[in-house]
Amino acid sequence: MCTTPRGSIDIAEVKRQQTTAGEPVHLPDPTRPPRPAPHCDVCAALDRQREQAEKSGNIRKATSCEEEIRRHPGHGKQP
Ligand SMILES: [Zn+2]
Repeated sequence: MCTTPRGSIDIAEVKRQQTTAGEPVHLPDPTRPPRPAPHCDVCAALDRQREQAEKSGNIRKATSCEEEIRRHPGHGKQP
């Protein structure tokens, strides 16, 4: 008669696990440089170009590469 449902997961308890990661946030621009999507060849190539351009002092090119990474749609979804 008085059957208590078993296996009731306490979700609140699970969610209680806080992520107390003390990530230092002192970057001037958190969106820079943009993260190239993993497994995306285009982004990886652009990121390399950006790095090289930056090393050679070509900030304009580096910036345009960043823009392309940010705007890259789909990130080479494989069929
Ligand atoms: Zn991409």
